[in-house]
Amino acid sequence: MLIKIIYSNVLSYLVKMIYKIHERIVGRNMRDERTIKLLCTMTDFLHKFACFDCLVAFKRQAIEDTSTGSAHQADSEIIHKCPNCGHRMAFMGRNFAAPSKKDSSSWLAAQKLWESGFRFVGSGYHSDPALPRKKSEVEAFIEHNPEHKQKVGSKQLWLNYA
Ligand SMILES: [Zn+2]
Repeated sequence: MLIKIIYSNVLSYLVKMIYKIHERIVGRNMRDERTIKLLCTMTDFLHKFACFDCLVAFKRQAIEDTSTGSAHQADSEIIHKCPNCGHRMAFMGRNFAAPSKKDSSSWLAAQKLWESGFRFVGSGYHSDPALPRKKSEVEAFIEHNPEHKQKVGSKQLWLNYA
């Protein structure tokens, strides 16, 4: 386990160093194909985490050994606290797009979906309906989609999540 952690830390450090060196060589404004590939590799490590109290979301690493990641991961191995309030942030999956702070209906929809086990995961290539963005649509959606492909987690309450 320890070796795995060291290995993945060394690996992500190396990727960052290679990117830094590469960035210096090609210049800040030039993003050629190799730079874009490196950037993709780096962001592949990251998933979205949200705080439903502060209505913010951040990209963070979810697992130590990034080679074992699944596209249908239900939760994070690594705990990330909200930098604003300290509440453990909810693992949302790679594809979560954070609503604006003013859009409380969309944030409540995201929270209800998360509490019911839905995650913004997968390739998007399935025939199940897209996750709703509005609070008013969520309850019916959850009721009508008990076998949804993106329902990969179990029921839990944000209040008790730590
Ligand atoms: Zn917070």
